[in-house]
Amino acid sequence: MSNNSQIVNLIEKGTKYCTSLTEYKRRETTSVNIGDLWMGSQYPIRIQSMTTIDTMDTIGSVEQTLRMVESGCELVRITAPSVKEAQNLENIRKELRKRGCNVPLVADIHFTPNAAELAARLVEKVRINPGNYADKKRFETIDYTESSYQAELERIRDKFVPLIKICKEYGTAMRIGTNHGSLSDRILSRYGDTPLGMVESALEFLRICEDENYFNIVLSMKASNTQVMVEAYRLLCKKLDEEGLKPYPLHLGVTEAGEGEDGRIKSAVGIGTLLEDGLGDTVRVSLTEDPEFEAPVAKSLIDRYTHRAETTTLIPAWKPANTELSEAFDSPINPFQHFRRATEDVAVFGGHNVPRVIADYSQVGINEHDDLKSIGHFYLPATDKWAMNDLGADFVYSGQKPASFMLPMGLKEIVDYKIWSEKNCPENLFPLVAIETISKDIKLHNSLNFIAVNIDNLKPEFISILSSLRKAVLVISTNNTHGMPALRRFFFELISQAIKLPVVIWRQYGAMSASDFQLFSATDLGGLLVDGLGDGAILSVPQNTPESEFQGLAKIYNSTAFGILQAARTRMSKTEYISCPSCGRTLFDLQETTAMIRKRTDHLKGVKIGIMGCIVNGPGEMADADYGYVGIGKDKIALYRGQQVVKKSVHADRAVDELIELIKEDGVWFEPAQNAELADML
Ligand code: SF4
Repeated sequence: MSNNSQIVNLIEKGTKYCTSLTEYKRRETTSVNIGDLWMGSQYPIRIQSMTTIDTMDTIGSVEQTLRMVESGCELVRITAPSVKEAQNLENIRKELRKRGCNVPLVADIHFTPNAAELAARLVEKVRINPGNYADKKRFETIDYTESSYQAELERIRDKFVPLIKICKEYGTAMRIGTNHGSLSDRILSRYGDTPLGMVESALEFLRICEDENYFNIVLSMKASNTQVMVEAYRLLCKKLDEEGLKPYPLHLGVTEAGEGEDGRIKSAVGIGTLLEDGLGDTVRVSLTEDPEFEAPVAKSLIDRYTHRAETTTLIPAWKPANTELSEAFDSPINPFQHFRRATEDVAVFGGHNVPRVIADYSQVGINEHDDLKSIGHFYLPATDKWAMNDLGADFVYSGQKPASFMLPMGLKEIVDYKIWSEKNCPENLFPLVAIETISKDIKLHNSLNFIAVNIDNLKPEFISILSSLRKAVLVISTNNTHGMPALRRFFFELISQAIKLPVVIWRQYGAMSASDFQLFSATDLGGLLVDGLGDGAILSVPQNTPESEFQGLAKIYNSTAFGILQAARTRMSKTEYISCPSCGRTLFDLQETTAMIRKRTDHLKGVKIGIMGCIVNGPGEMADADYGYVGIGKDKIALYRGQQVVKKSVHADRAVDELIELIKEDGVWFEPAQNAELADML
């Protein structure tokens, strides 16, 4: 069987969801006008965000909107939970215009068609959630026949057409915005909690719009789970093409991403992965922070692509003479469902091992015990022992400057091959060998070798070397500015050649802010990990970093690597907070409460806690969480175990304690670090 036919056999028919997997090309989309603002592939990717203030607070909403516009928002969404708030959008809009601000406004609607119909007359765009526009959540599983399902669709049509007519009359745009957490009982009954269900949820409404000749539409497929979110957007593009529906602009977002570093990394894994393939016409980053902090993050994500098409044409990473892999769109993986690439188990890499984190100390070497604090390993002089926190790196690469003391048990050292061979090939060190230097008679380690492969310099003859290697982990890098697709292309080649060596992804960036580094590395690594590609990560501190700054950066780079693995759902090393960004419905101070819950629980590795501002959308939005803390009224909180409410109304003063009691009842709780010496260091 030729290589090409092997690939064709591997490709599920019709996996095309973007224009090219190798060159940066934006997906061609229709143009939509939102007031005077145009959106679609003919225009720059737009930045937007949502207010958090009560919509009835006109001046507060206006002032917050002005701050958001100042920070880079090109359109601003405001919640309209009922007709009263929808009506007040008029006052907010008038006041904004009076102050010289023409930003288009978007009314955010859940459950209330009457509020939508009013808002569509007053503002430039309405967002509806197809999961709750015409349906109330009853958590029922319903057995539909074809005709009873059709009857449901007719019921939706009757409720939805009046809004379409108003939008057409007033020139109002609409977003049909699916959320993974708030799919209707009808969709869940027929399609389950799946990307396909999310897509179908939007298409039910979209088909009605097209029947009514209404096309001023934007679509979104948000989820808190980045794998689900990426798969749903891709599937949406494929389904639009298949059904001959128009290629509407996409609004990208990860819901309930959280705050700070975690929120930025999670947003970038989801949004960045799609942007790399040219998907996305507007971006909203949802952080549990003041909304004016969201636009700069969206801007950093988007700006990377402004000149991407001009600066890169992807040269196939590796093209043996007998491979006919098309450069535009051949994929041996299923982009609509996460599968990890099948690899051999090599020491602690590949197979069923979690992806590993390797810290790069080759610039400065490992000179003192305390050098390892930045990567989660702590020497305790009083007991002459080592301790490790949840972000303890698995390996450290010291290049030509090996450690002068014995490393802790949980940390293994990688050195350059030259050093390894000069030291007589010790068992407790592992060599990094450039693929160009591998020959038949080279002596390698018995159990674990790292093979450095810069994919930009690959030659076809390396295929036989890679095929013959055993006890080896590839460490791949590229200088290509379209880096994620370049590396992905190399993975495709490995799959097509049935080479099952584990692969560590090695990325290095120039000097930049910590936030940009988190966003860019999360995009580049996350884009591979969500597709099951990659068995480890090295994020190197920029070359020529002053020694005095190295440890500070090493700490950020190490925690970012763990954060990316967690955000791509490939290795859970910390508590995950699925906290909503808050909006006009929020019933408590989300930032303060999230900080309080984090302080008490952030040692609970792998536990997912949802923190939601309201009962209307909260329980649905935290579909993925193990425990939930949801506002139900003034100072009243409901606590959830999974999707089940277990404490219906707890006073806010006691709610965090009761949440911890609940975790304890389940035997999931353990006390934070007991060792006082270690606690001091952490
Ligand atoms: S869950 Fe949070 S962001 Fe969503 S509607 Fe409720 S308060 Fe607003």
